[in-house]
Amino acid sequence: MATCIICHLDIIESVDSFHECPNGHPTHTDCLKEWLLHSSNCPLCREPYSSQVIEDFKDFIQQKEQEKQETLESELNQEKIKQIEKIAEKMIFLKFVESIEVLMDAKEYEYALSRLDFHDNDTNSNQKSQNIMFLRGKINFLRGRYDMAVSLLTKLVKKKYDYPEGFLYLGKSYEALGLKEQAKWAYDRVN
Ligand SMILES: [Zn+2]
Ligand SMILES: [Zn+2]
Repeated sequence: MATCIICHLDIIESVDSFHECPNGHPTHTDCLKEWLLHSSNCPLCREPYSSQVIEDFKDFIQQKEQEKQETLESELNQEKIKQIEKIAEKMIFLKFVESIEVLMDAKEYEYALSRLDFHDNDTNSNQKSQNIMFLRGKINFLRGRYDMAVSLLTKLVKKKYDYPEGFLYLGKSYEALGLKEQAKWAYDRVN
């Protein structure tokens, strides 16, 4: 009885379908199928399998390669879709920020703040909630609530140090409160 050189189980010649390399190393047909996806040489002696053996498995190998290709393509497509969704989400948020800026220009501070509250509830992105916190701080500065602006913007720059506009409006708010030292400290961190 022969032993398959791939799975090391017996090959029962009357029952199992099997192949041999040119040096007579036997493998189950099913074991060889999988092996040929990686190499066309015998796993034991490295001798190339005959073109007849390769021909026997050609369809299977082609099919597997096509499946691999299709899996890869569908993964790429999903990646692309995710990217597009991310960009779309960003665009929507930018539009939202623009609409808040329009409200600020029109001095509709209360309305702008209520829209920010509404939006903040359904965001789980750090960057977005930082942007929202900045807008809240800025609006409070614009409507003369300097203490609230300071509290919001301090919270913001603690979370994200690299936020020049945050420090700018923090400085302006300190200045409006007559806190010159603190204002200078904030302005120094704008750049
Ligand atoms: Zn086997
Ligand atoms: Zn061999």
